[in-house]
Amino acid sequence: MFKYSNTNKRYHTLDYYYKNRFNEKVFKVSLNAGFSCPNIDGTVGYGGCIYCSKTGSGEFAGNKEDNIVKQFNDIKEVMLKKWPKAKYIGYFQARTNTYAPVEELKKVYEPILKQENVIGLNIATRPDSITDECLDYLEDLNKRTYLTIELGLQTTNEKTSKLINRCHTLECFENMVKKLRSRNIDVIVHIINGLPYETKEDMINTVKYLNDLDIQGIKIHMLSITKDTPIEKMYKEEKFKLLSKEEYIDIVIDQLEYLRPEIVIHRITGDPKLDELVEPNWLVKKFCVLNDIDKEMVRRDTYQGIKAKKRD
Ligand code: SF4
Repeated sequence: MFKYSNTNKRYHTLDYYYKNRFNEKVFKVSLNAGFSCPNIDGTVGYGGCIYCSKTGSGEFAGNKEDNIVKQFNDIKEVMLKKWPKAKYIGYFQARTNTYAPVEELKKVYEPILKQENVIGLNIATRPDSITDECLDYLEDLNKRTYLTIELGLQTTNEKTSKLINRCHTLECFENMVKKLRSRNIDVIVHIINGLPYETKEDMINTVKYLNDLDIQGIKIHMLSITKDTPIEKMYKEEKFKLLSKEEYIDIVIDQLEYLRPEIVIHRITGDPKLDELVEPNWLVKKFCVLNDIDKEMVRRDTYQGIKAKKRD
């Protein structure tokens, strides 16, 4: 049996990690603090990453017009009915959640930390958007709560990175991982499989590169083409090939094999808003994808980390 599992899973799920660490059911409450993004407003780029949706990749976050505590409580109320003893992590998900002066960040992070049963914060951001002053504040937060910083990378292929308009370098990403780790802050990295014109080898290389870095978690997404995005236009014009469900599953399992077993798998499919999804259709049945990954891992008799290099 896989070391980091007490179910049939052959990879290190977030659920397993939370239960072991906190001994309770833990939920992430997705919040929208109304931040912008330097890749949209012209600071580092215009128009944003080509797959970025209207909500800034915060599809399930609260309503940004609502006060942050109201957003939190509205979602918590729903969870409470099913899990009265649950603990919560405030998940700052939409757009770039460190892209503001520290005093502004404090106004949204601190009230969430004061809510009952909140045990942590998960902050999604870009590697080029954490100032040294912000790092000092994050270090302080990390001493007071369970803090995780989620950095977008998507791919290590610089050509793809340009094509999708990420507007930061791999060096910038790696430097930020090192800065966060030097302050003992846990890092989760977001990657996307199936980006235009990427090969399986590109996707495996991204994971091999990450396995060599001191990261604690990863989110693996399938590229979803959503309505009214630049990638929808590109897809309709260029008809680049999307991964089939079988191809995605094959690549994801190979990627898991190359990841150290301690790395927590925070996500393993995409989770787009279904009314905005253009393609691929198979993403609609998220649980089928998850089940098929499990079945294929059994068929191959494989586990996360089976081909992973240990860090020096
Ligand atoms: S960094 Fe995030 S919020 Fe900014 S454009 Fe890219 S996906 Fe959208």
